[in-house]
Amino acid sequence: MSDNELNPFAIAQRQFDEAAEVIGLDPAMRAFLREPMRELHVTLPVRMDDGSVKVFKGFRVQYNDARGPTKGGIRFHPDETIDTVRALAAWMTWKTAVVDIPLGGAKGGIICNPKEMSQAELERLSRAYIRQVGRIIGLEKDVPAPDVYTNPQIMAWMMDEYSFLKGYNEFGVITGKPLELGGSAGRGDATARGGMYTIREAAKVLGIETKGATMAIQGFGNAGQYAALLGEELLGCKIVAVSDSRGGIYNPDGFDAKALVDHKLKTGKVGGFPGAKEISNAELLELDVDILVPAALENVITKENAPRIKAKISAELANGPTTPEADKILHENGVYVIPDFLCNAGGVTVSYFEMVQNAYDYYWDEATVHERLDKKMTAAFHAVHERAEELKVHNRLAAYAVAVERVAKAVRLRGWV
Ligand code: NAD
Repeated sequence: MSDNELNPFAIAQRQFDEAAEVIGLDPAMRAFLREPMRELHVTLPVRMDDGSVKVFKGFRVQYNDARGPTKGGIRFHPDETIDTVRALAAWMTWKTAVVDIPLGGAKGGIICNPKEMSQAELERLSRAYIRQVGRIIGLEKDVPAPDVYTNPQIMAWMMDEYSFLKGYNEFGVITGKPLELGGSAGRGDATARGGMYTIREAAKVLGIETKGATMAIQGFGNAGQYAALLGEELLGCKIVAVSDSRGGIYNPDGFDAKALVDHKLKTGKVGGFPGAKEISNAELLELDVDILVPAALENVITKENAPRIKAKISAELANGPTTPEADKILHENGVYVIPDFLCNAGGVTVSYFEMVQNAYDYYWDEATVHERLDKKMTAAFHAVHERAEELKVHNRLAAYAVAVERVAKAVRLRGWV
């Protein structure tokens, strides 16, 4: 496969172009919406514990803010690239539009390996990043959040640094904070929970009974672990396979999700779970299950393995797990894909709830968060499903159609294009 075929931003642009064609977007709007509005590249000197100074590269991409302040996570990853950040910022724009929250899309990243850094080094890096991007973020401008390898502690340091720059506490500048510093109840499992609501609705329209349905989950971090717990709790599914970066495990009789999570927390891997057959990540994707949940990385379902995917539903908690070629194959083979920026929009939706709670300094209980999240996810799912039937296209294209039309409408009303 060529590099460009797997370049996340090239993929995001191809997906957008296809949607623009289907909805007949005019050329100026197409040219505007297929590029980020703004991006900042920063160079960050950080004092390491051994006294040396290491220089890191970081990015913040604000893709589009026509519908409101931009929003999107910050990733710490050794393989981070500006194109990954651009793609994720574009997907955030479509994600906030598809769940209809009044925000735009952004993303940030730092090229670093957090697994090799101490807590003190991570804190200095987080603060250095905010000293640079502080000038373009803010409650009314752009609100970051956690993503791969960043967490509530890192958000707390970043919020603290920003508050010092401003001279007053501004909790709402970042979401995914610890509860003690203005975090929202229900944020921890929001991505997986939102995904489960969309699976529930998909099962209804497909006439599938979720109770006893088999589920395989690739990736066992925040998204994957909560998918296992909530797949069992909310949908009554049987979790038959899970995996992480070191490989997967399978048991056709089903696992106890809580025991799996405990095992992962204790041993650092899913492998070695008693009574399970060890399988590869590639084998997990091709299992004969009702529901497949990619919850790890990009580009895991490609034109090579798509013909062998047997699941009835592929619920994409990961961002960008399916290439455009694979999308067509899955659609032809009747695999019902719940596309990433719809399926995993629960996280940003509860992040938005966090911003709202920070703004009026009054906090909701968990049940209220769950109820409001369910309402948003269910409405978004049906908007996409109906658009797919109407346009006779696959769900990703339909989700793009819904989202791009909403963003284009805001751009037009503002008189930009
Ligand atoms: P995480 O870092 O908590 O977990 C990632 C998991 O993927 C780990 O279990 C890791 O072992 C596994 N993994 C890494 N490489 C793998 C490989 N080659 N094969 C199989 N597994 C592998 O990250 P997360 O927050 O759970 O995010 C996972 C995906 O979900 C990402 O694509 C992320 O962008 C997306 N997502 C997460 C959230 C959220 O709120 N956490 C929101 C939206 C989207």
